[in-house]
Amino acid sequence: MAIAGPRPRPGIEQIEAYVPGESKVPGGMKPAKLSSNETPLGPSPKAIAAFTAAAGELERYPDGQATALRTAIARRYGLDAARIVCGSGSDELLGLIARAYLGPGDEGLYTEHGFLVYRIAILTNGATPVIAPEKNLTADVDAILARVSERTRVVFLANPNNPTGTYLPVAEVRRLRAGLAPNVVLVLDAAYAEYVDRNDYEAGIELVATTPNTVMTRTFSKIHGLAALRIGWAYCPAAIADALNRIRGPFNLSAPAIAAGAAAMEDVTHADAAKAHNDTWLAWVTKEVRTLGLDVTPSVANFLLIHFPQGSAKTAAGADEYLKSQGVIVRKVGAYGFPNALRMTIGSQDDNERAVAALAGYMDGRA
Ligand SMILES: *Cc1c(COP(=O)(O)O)cnc(C)c1O
Repeated sequence: MAIAGPRPRPGIEQIEAYVPGESKVPGGMKPAKLSSNETPLGPSPKAIAAFTAAAGELERYPDGQATALRTAIARRYGLDAARIVCGSGSDELLGLIARAYLGPGDEGLYTEHGFLVYRIAILTNGATPVIAPEKNLTADVDAILARVSERTRVVFLANPNNPTGTYLPVAEVRRLRAGLAPNVVLVLDAAYAEYVDRNDYEAGIELVATTPNTVMTRTFSKIHGLAALRIGWAYCPAAIADALNRIRGPFNLSAPAIAAGAAAMEDVTHADAAKAHNDTWLAWVTKEVRTLGLDVTPSVANFLLIHFPQGSAKTAAGADEYLKSQGVIVRKVGAYGFPNALRMTIGSQDDNERAVAALAGYMDGRA
């Protein structure tokens, strides 16, 4: 009898690999790349300078504790640096949390239109994904709690969520935490927290400070414009920080990433400018796209979910093709349960105007 070849652990073959936003258009024209929620302002000049300076010592291992970065984050938000764990993007941290708390027989829960990295993290560890329905394209605390079982170990909540741009107010997040057993880790993925302008929103610092089982994850990929460097951070109860520090790679952040991240965190003026730009253009693009007769989910982040009419000849797939022919790249979101919608990142003035003009061209029938 032939010996079968290597097989990955159970669960891994069920994973559909993450498909990143596209970045190229035909004909080599410079695209308006509005597919990955990157900031049009780019990183802080101080972060670029710190990155460049780090090029002089590439033979040295980085500081395995990422001390300069954790210190800069702690100072900026008034946190305990010992409870901050940094990762190669928040994606790595989400995976580490799953690895520490989920195994075969356990359940990891996320919501209907939730970020797909959660599903990958759950299946990678042999655990079972459980999906809670949403209401009005927003996470629904009662529906999440109704799907919790004695096997549930981790609940992932993106707040605000990608790709919907909707959020849960702090009172609802507190109610969710209060309804979960003490042995369930609640992960608040606040990748877009810096963009949110709502009095009833809180990224998660308060819940992490007051409960022993809530983790908040954040990223430098969005408002700080450092997606290429892969930098994320988690604020954790001490015991969870300890677990993540035991299993992470000992040098999981590169020295240029640590240096650039610390400089970016200190440049509050640059982040404020990115927020101000987004406030202006999120409102403008929302209004212009609605004027074209398209439905836009109200967003508190740096992207919009644009819905095409049911049963019309004007479809998300058709618009995506036409936009690409005009040099505008947006994101298809069929994998998130939106076969007839597109997600558009708020870009530079020029890119926003190009995108709206191209959408208008498609809706006018110039396609
Ligand atoms: C972009 C994004 C992240 C950030 O990922 P990184 O690995 O830090 O680049 C995390 N969560 C959500 C919901 C996102 O959209």
